[in-house]
Amino acid sequence: MDTADVLKNISDTVWQESEDGDYKGQDDLLYCGKCHTRKEARYMFMNKVMKVHVLCACESEKRRIEEEERKIREAKEQIARMKATCIQDRGLIECTFANDDGSLPQIASAKRYVETWQERKANNDGLLLWGDVGTGKTFYAACIANALIEQGASVLMTNFSKILNKLTGLYSDDRNEFIASMMQYTLLIIDDFGIERNTEYALEQVYNIIDERYKSKLPLIVTTNLSISTLKNPEDTAHKRIYDRVLAMCVPVKFVGANHRAKDAEAKIKSCKGIFEGGSAV
Ligand SMILES: [Zn+2]
Repeated sequence: MDTADVLKNISDTVWQESEDGDYKGQDDLLYCGKCHTRKEARYMFMNKVMKVHVLCACESEKRRIEEEERKIREAKEQIARMKATCIQDRGLIECTFANDDGSLPQIASAKRYVETWQERKANNDGLLLWGDVGTGKTFYAACIANALIEQGASVLMTNFSKILNKLTGLYSDDRNEFIASMMQYTLLIIDDFGIERNTEYALEQVYNIIDERYKSKLPLIVTTNLSISTLKNPEDTAHKRIYDRVLAMCVPVKFVGANHRAKDAEAKIKSCKGIFEGGSAV
């Protein structure tokens, strides 16, 4: 044992007291009554033999398990913090594959997207989840967001209403910085695309963000109530240049027919929103 080990053992064993059943061995050192390994060792210090406390085998094992549990706890806390930052609608944090009841037929493809994430990322493969309200598009997208964040991927799930609100209060330089900050996320998920304000300013900002994403060659997932034919036949050029980019980056996945699971998910999202927005849970 070197000095560092001895000092570590001394500090480690501050909390380990002699317990009932501990006994002195023939070598006059203290032994643990449970695991029968030493709780003391001899150490030469300044030409004197000293006895120092050391961890017995069962105490070492107990501390190893505590340390492992601490690491797991910290990793979970880190993921929870990431989700709180990266999934802006907190109700969606509950939308996970684990909470899926299996009645959404498209969910298998969401799992495949996550399983093949490295390839999706490299190929800049986005998704366009389109269909009526309540068909599970948001649930599907949030499952992907949650699963990828759990794997350590950097994901931002937001919507254009939130982005435009934020941009409105910013000066030009800060606006550019804010848009650039969204490109730091490997995956950007825009929920409810197409319901944002239709002003010239709004359309310009939406285009800027989609175009930045396109130029950055980073994947984009969009959920929208707009039909694929609306996206392919836009009403004017301002919409056309936005939709053209989205269609170039995202593979369309169709969602049809509201089902129980989707309704349940919508209800769950609403109830979670109530909890979070009421401030009674964080
Ligand atoms: Zn022991």
